[in-house]
Amino acid sequence: MAKLHLITYGCQMNEYDSERVAGLLRERQYELTDDAAAADVILVNTCAIREKAEDKVFSKLGELRRLKAGRPDLVIGVMGCMAQLQQGMVLRRAPQVDLVFGSPAIARVAELVERARREPRPVLETGEAPLVKITAKPPSAARLKAFVTVMEGCEKHCTFCVVPRTRGRERSHPPAAIVAEIEGLVAEGCREVTLLGQTVNAYGRDLTPPTDLAELFARVNDVAGLERIRFTTSNPYNLTPRLIRAMREVPKVCEWFHLPLQSGSDRVLERMNRGYTRARYLELVDALREAEPAMAFSTDIIVGFPGETEADFAATLEVVERVAFDNVFVFRYSRRPGTPAATMPEQVADDVKADRNRRVLEVAQRVGAARSAHLRGRTMEVLVDGASRRSTGELSGRTRCNRVVNFDGQGRAAVGDVVHVRVTDALPHSLRGMLTTPEEAVCWSK
Ligand code: SAM
Repeated sequence: MAKLHLITYGCQMNEYDSERVAGLLRERQYELTDDAAAADVILVNTCAIREKAEDKVFSKLGELRRLKAGRPDLVIGVMGCMAQLQQGMVLRRAPQVDLVFGSPAIARVAELVERARREPRPVLETGEAPLVKITAKPPSAARLKAFVTVMEGCEKHCTFCVVPRTRGRERSHPPAAIVAEIEGLVAEGCREVTLLGQTVNAYGRDLTPPTDLAELFARVNDVAGLERIRFTTSNPYNLTPRLIRAMREVPKVCEWFHLPLQSGSDRVLERMNRGYTRARYLELVDALREAEPAMAFSTDIIVGFPGETEADFAATLEVVERVAFDNVFVFRYSRRPGTPAATMPEQVADDVKADRNRRVLEVAQRVGAARSAHLRGRTMEVLVDGASRRSTGELSGRTRCNRVVNFDGQGRAAVGDVVHVRVTDALPHSLRGMLTTPEEAVCWSK
């Protein structure tokens, strides 16, 4: 068997894509190796969302160049978002690369790798392969949690974002194929799935007949043996009353909603072309909390978008306080080639971005800590996923609202169990608790 080494940068979708690639190549007699020096083929799965992500890839390609110097038959491929967006630059700055292909062409990876092994010139592929649900996964040990892509691409055209250019148009997988994939995962021991899409709540509108995420939840909920359903990433613009109802009514859907805000200022949201206002965002949060009072929210925020003033930024801080997010991912605006915001006037200076980044994190940590403190004394359902990282002998798991809980459950609970834990302490990054009975959890489960 030939040996394949995969290096993955970026989001969950990239992790999932790497698994698909490993699965497809396994069918062609490639086995995975952790050792780059032992590989016949090395594929670097890239991210282009921010400039920093691209810098990391070039530094890794520099390391691989040294490896290739001693082994000219080694095939080095660059795949994913940066490969799609920057093929020219990849070949110019990293001439040791033999293969460049984008995410929309993943289904053809086996053929592309074979060509790259045969042909003297670099193989380039940035077209789109037919949409197939690739269920072939590496023969890894049973996994408790898995990502499942339900749709590819993005058509949102936020002015800061490269994704529509890197991942192509929106294409949904048919519900039956998704359910079949999840059934396969559950048969191997999976208890929790995260349904993935760039705008996952736009799922299904391109299918014939059209369907939606609420309907998909109902189908996935029927998979016996599956415990939990999560999903990401949603766009407030596509958040429908049907989906809000489904959050309450579909038992396996967890009370955790990742809803990118990006900015709390209407002026900035408009320049970002996000399609909603601050008031609309808050209305959606209220509706979701009304449907499901235990709902936890996380969000993405960009600081230093072109033209963002102190007043705009203050409006973002206000929304962070008002929503009381459990978790906030903050990004400094990064100019991406070919996006409208890259050429907007009034680009914000790096030191201002750094300062706003720090200030929003401060507020986010404070409100997140208050949310944690509020969980003290509650009994929560926990899916046990391993040993606690800190203290030996303790188990660790996640609540339905996506909080890490460590507890002493030795001998009384095992990985994969769903148990009930009373929260005794709220630390900055995790909760501590003790095993208890389900009766106490009534007010916190559906
Ligand atoms: N499709 C999702 C959406 O639009 O909400 C999220 C996709 S992206 C992989 C994750 C996050 O990266 C975005 O929500 C945004 O906050 C951030 N991001 C995207 N483009 C960026 C840029 N040019 N500079 C800084 N952050 C960016």
